[in-house]
Amino acid sequence: MTQVAHTRDELVAALDGAGGEVAVVMTMGALHEGHGRLIRTARQRSPFVVVTIFVNPLQFGPGEDFEKYPRTLEADLGACRAEGAAVVFAPGRDDVYPGGAPSITMNPGPLGAILEGASRPGHFSGMLTVVEKLLRLTRADVAYFGEKDFQQLALIRRMVLDLELGVEIVGVPTVRESDGLALSSRNRYLSEQERKSALALSRALREGAGHSDPAAVLATAGKILAEEPGVRLDYLELTGADLGDVPDEGPARLLVAARVGATRLIDNVPIVLRKEA
Ligand code: AMP
Repeated sequence: MTQVAHTRDELVAALDGAGGEVAVVMTMGALHEGHGRLIRTARQRSPFVVVTIFVNPLQFGPGEDFEKYPRTLEADLGACRAEGAAVVFAPGRDDVYPGGAPSITMNPGPLGAILEGASRPGHFSGMLTVVEKLLRLTRADVAYFGEKDFQQLALIRRMVLDLELGVEIVGVPTVRESDGLALSSRNRYLSEQERKSALALSRALREGAGHSDPAAVLATAGKILAEEPGVRLDYLELTGADLGDVPDEGPARLLVAARVGATRLIDNVPIVLRKEA
C-alpha cells in the first residue's frame, strides 16, 4: 500500500512505517519510464522507497518553464503505486519552504559554474538546496538519481561528501526511447517535427562515442548537430568522467544541451578515449 503525504506531518507519520533503510527517489513529477527505472532500482534493494514529487521553483530561472512544467499528480500516484513505492511525498511550496524563499542556500562551487551552470545561473543552487532539504525530511539512507542529469548527479555526490550528509548516492543509467531519445518530462512539449529534430542529440552522442580520439568525437557529434536545422546548440562538450579535464585515455563523458523549438533538452553518454597506436 502506497501512502500519500502532502504535508510534513503526514510525511513524519508515513516514515514511522519504515522498519529499516529508507530509499528515496526525487522527481518533479510528470513521471515516465526513466523515473520508473529509478524506483525499480531502489525497490530491488530497499522495501521502503519514498518518491518525492515537487516542482521546485528555486531551480527555475526567470523565463524558464516553471509555470508550464507538466503537473500530472493523479497519473504519477498511479505509477508510484504500480512500482510499489511505500510513500509518495508531494508537498506544496509552503511545506518545503515554510520560511518563504530561503535566504540561506547552497553554493554549488566551481563544478556548478560550468555546462548547465553557465547556461542556467542559479539552477544548481536551487537544486542542491531542495535536494538537501528533501534528504533530511525523508530521512534518506540512500537516494537514486539519473545519469540523464549527469552534472546534477556529480554535484549531489560532491555535496554529500563536502557536507558529511551521510547518505549513499546511487546513479542510474539513462533510459531512452527505442530510437535513442532520452526520456524527459519536457519531451511532451515537442511537436512531431521537433521530436524528429531532437533525435539529432542522441544520434550525435552515439556516433561521437564511436570514436576514441577527442577531436574525432567532437567533430563527428558536432557535424550531426550542425546539420539539423531544428536544433540550436547550447553546448557540446567532452570532459573527464568526473566532468573535469579530458583525460588522454580512459573514461570520459560527452554532453550536449540544445534548444529544439522552445524546449531545452540535455543528454550525455559515457565514452572511452584511447591513444592512437
Ligand atoms: P526530474 O523529474 O526530471 O527532475 O528527474 C527526476 C530524477 O529522474 C532525476 O534523478 C533524473 O536524473 C532522473 N531521470 C530523468 N529522466 C531520466 C531518464 N531518461 N533516465 C534515467 N533517469 C532519469
